[in-house]
Amino acid sequence: MPSIKNQHDLQPLNTFGIKASAQYFIEVSSEKDLPELPELKQDKILIMGGGSNILFTKDFEGIIVQMKISGINIEGEDEQSVIVSAGGGVEWDELVAFAVLRNLGGIENLSIIPGSVGAAPVQNIGAYGMEVKDTIEKVECYDLMTGMTITFSNRDCGFSYRYSVFKGEFKNRLLITKVYFRLKKPPHTLVTTYGNIAELLPENPSITDVRNIITGIRQSKLPDHKVTGNAGSFFKNPVVHEQTALKLKELYPGIPIFPEATGLAKISAAWLIDQSGCKGITRGRAGTHPKQPLVLINLGGASGSEIFELAQYVQGEVLEKFGIMLEPEVNVY
Ligand code: FAD
Ligand code: NAP
Repeated sequence: MPSIKNQHDLQPLNTFGIKASAQYFIEVSSEKDLPELPELKQDKILIMGGGSNILFTKDFEGIIVQMKISGINIEGEDEQSVIVSAGGGVEWDELVAFAVLRNLGGIENLSIIPGSVGAAPVQNIGAYGMEVKDTIEKVECYDLMTGMTITFSNRDCGFSYRYSVFKGEFKNRLLITKVYFRLKKPPHTLVTTYGNIAELLPENPSITDVRNIITGIRQSKLPDHKVTGNAGSFFKNPVVHEQTALKLKELYPGIPIFPEATGLAKISAAWLIDQSGCKGITRGRAGTHPKQPLVLINLGGASGSEIFELAQYVQGEVLEKFGIMLEPEVNVY
């Protein structure tokens, strides 16, 4: 039976570095622990991985279940692909390194995203033109309310831009214990359309080159959460109707707009924040990053409420200037 800790310190467990505690805290490090979990029906539950997409604005009054199941395994292969499984508690970038080392493609653009494998399907992590949904074969979960194990096929997961059913109807109910990925054998189709990735790559690039270039860009642009607390992009890029995007383009010719599914377009939230005068601003001990204003930062000793107040201020400024309400990507508690 995993031990239940009382008044557990969450500060080292969230990348914002916010001081908070959990009333009860359980670490699940083996599948054998699952049937041993106490009846959680009555309590307020929060599932956690690496705490890199969470903002605590107060102490958590309830039970936090942290996923720590480890292990990466090759499960099978065919001519074009290899099936790899990873425990929900595996560090995401450990899996990317595992894949790239074996020349298995499909997740190299997702290099050095913080957090766990179990959280990757939750918001369908994405970066530099790749989304994890395109490699997921199936997701194994444990239902904290019924004690049943359930397997979701890729289709069942309801993936879309930074979303899945695990973030929607099953949030904090289904604990993702293992994820199966279908990774591609060479020859690889590299995704190099974002920014200047293509220019930086050598001739005949490999997936290792892509990983190295993306790692370099990210390290030069984004704050290291071990030094400056943050949770990556605080807001999602807004997706609007094509007509709205065209109107905005007429008013603001410099606005970065990217076509999405039919009739929709994605707008860079970072640009909206910058143009609203919120790049590199500080409010108390919270700020927006001077190189990437979509990232809210803890300047040292900030409370979760201070970060959240800044987020609300930024939302207000963008709404006033552009009539667009930015939606948080980070999970606020
Ligand atoms: P947590 O923060 O612990 O949890 C996030 C959410 O997932 C919560 O709702 C939680 O309840 C749920 N959850 C966690 N584990 C499980 C589980 N096992 N079962 C069910 N639910 C679970 N994200 C991107 O998409 N692309 C990026 O490029 C990116 N870059 C980032 C850069 C930085 C510097 C930082 C700090 C964050 C970045 N993020 C990015 C956000 C974050 O890394 C991802 O969302 C990541 O998947 C969160 O993993 P985690 O284990 O830390 O999850
Ligand atoms: P960027 O390159 O400055 O671009 C700004 C935004 O424009 C990005 O968010 C991206 O949307 C979009 N974009 C840029 N080029 C595009 C293209 N060719 N086609 C479609 N959309 C395009 O962004 P950045 O902040 O340095 O981040 C680079 C990548 O890392 C992005 O994919 C971003 O999502 C990811 N990232 C995510 C987080 C997070 O916490 N979620 C944190 C850091 C970086 P998308 O975001 O939809 O890709």
